[in-house]
Amino acid sequence: MELLKFEKGRKGVVGMKLLEERIRRDGIIEAGEVLKVDSFLNHQMDVQLYREMGREWRRLFDGAEITKILTIEASGIGIACVAALEFGVPVIFAKKSKTKNIAGEVYSTTVTSFTHGNVSTVIVSKKFLHPGDRVLLIDDFLANGAAMLGLIDIVRQSGAELVGCGIAIEKAFQPGGARLREMGIRVESLARVSKLEDGLIEFID
Ligand code: 5GP
Repeated sequence: MELLKFEKGRKGVVGMKLLEERIRRDGIIEAGEVLKVDSFLNHQMDVQLYREMGREWRRLFDGAEITKILTIEASGIGIACVAALEFGVPVIFAKKSKTKNIAGEVYSTTVTSFTHGNVSTVIVSKKFLHPGDRVLLIDDFLANGAAMLGLIDIVRQSGAELVGCGIAIEKAFQPGGARLREMGIRVESLARVSKLEDGLIEFID
């Protein structure tokens, strides 16, 4: 697998430019305004690229005193883990679950999947998220914002503080990013796609 060469010292733009270049090179536009990035993010995983993304989030959220990273099953887990190495904090992933919260041991919410359209219940054990935690949400894509809003609901239930969202690829022509920012939530997207059309991918600088 070919790995990208990293430009050292160009802090601030490195994480974003690297990811944009990789999307331009290897991203595939699918029907339904879906960007397929299976060769480096969603199936085969370029963990060296993940590390640069983690470093960029670490730089952006410097001083935010994050204590936990929260992501959602399944595609956020890899990038969240590598980012967590940079922050030195644990990762929690919201699990898809068929069982209801009968014993009251979990926080739970529902999320509509962008790619499959189905609604799933996701849960996080009350053991792992508490008041006093400062939480960074991480995910691979931001589209309509359903995944992030689900995780935000879980953070709210736990009494922890939401620091912000670290997104790898924001599809800025879909409403999730604007919705979250209007709520006053800090969203740091490493690549912001403005257009996916006729085989062309455009970015917001
Ligand atoms: P949202 O919940 O913001 O509508 O969509 C975000 C979730 O849907 C992400 O967790 C991601 O897995 C999936 N997703 C949304 N758009 C895309 C896309 O264009 N490509 C891929 N591979 N996944 C996407």
